Amino acid sequence: MTKSSLAEQEICMKCGMCCDGSMFKWVGLETGEKENLSSEIPVISMDRDGAEGFNQPCPVYHGKCTIYHSYYPNVCRSFRCDLLDDFSKDRISQTKALKIAEKADSLRSNIRVELSDMDGIDEKVPLYVIIEVIEKLQVETEDNREFIQDKQALIKDTRRLQQIISTNFKRPPGILNRIKIFYRIPLSEKRLFVEAVILLYSTKFILLTLPLKYCDRLFGYGSRPESGLSSECQLSVRTAIGRAGKVVFWKNRSRAESLATNWMLQRRS
Ligand code: SF4
Ligand code: SF4
Repeated sequence: MTKSSLAEQEICMKCGMCCDGSMFKWVGLETGEKENLSSEIPVISMDRDGAEGFNQPCPVYHGKCTIYHSYYPNVCRSFRCDLLDDFSKDRISQTKALKIAEKADSLRSNIRVELSDMDGIDEKVPLYVIIEVIEKLQVETEDNREFIQDKQALIKDTRRLQQIISTNFKRPPGILNRIKIFYRIPLSEKRLFVEAVILLYSTKFILLTLPLKYCDRLFGYGSRPESGLSSECQLSVRTAIGRAGKVVFWKNRSRAESLATNWMLQRRS
């Protein structure tokens, strides 16, 4: 074992964010891998394309990967987050990388403690779910005003963790990679993406110019325009809006994304 792989292990031992559901929802498997995998990992198929994998948090992550010395998935074997990449390319020192991993770990622990007194929150709820929910709740409405006031520390820690993940562990792809990804998707998905971008920007413009209540009524916020549409159609719309969300310039996207999704679904119902 090289000195640098030992040093990398030391960083990973402080972290585990790529296994515990903080960074990813799902671990994809390659064909034939399922048979070799530990029976502790419940492999499932994705509805859409039949791809196999398992949900995060990974059931064999207990402070570290416990199947590390036997068979473990190729994607895990080859995965390197941006933090490890920076360290291996001497862009940051080990001390700095350890500090970042420790900071992320302490925020993760704080968030778990802050959530422990909330009804219905199980300690096994993956952090990505918490992050997504808190991101939505940051947009103040009459319904969540009290929550925002009560849970300042939780919101602050979640934001900070989100920021650390997106600047150190899993940076969004650069413009060139985004263009490459766009070229690889099928034409039908490209069309949906373009529609989603136009609707998302239009929604944002409307949100900035009209009162929120009026916008909610206009877009049928809280209604279910998807009823009657196939799950395939709903999934393509949500995927397109998710992709469009990556090319917008503003931070709090949840309300605009949700209204633009309604708009896209309404156009199909
Ligand atoms: S996110 Fe990076 S540093 Fe953390 S455990 Fe995974 S590979 Fe290691
Ligand atoms: S198999 Fe090991 S490396 Fe892969 S997600 Fe699970 S704990 Fe992490």
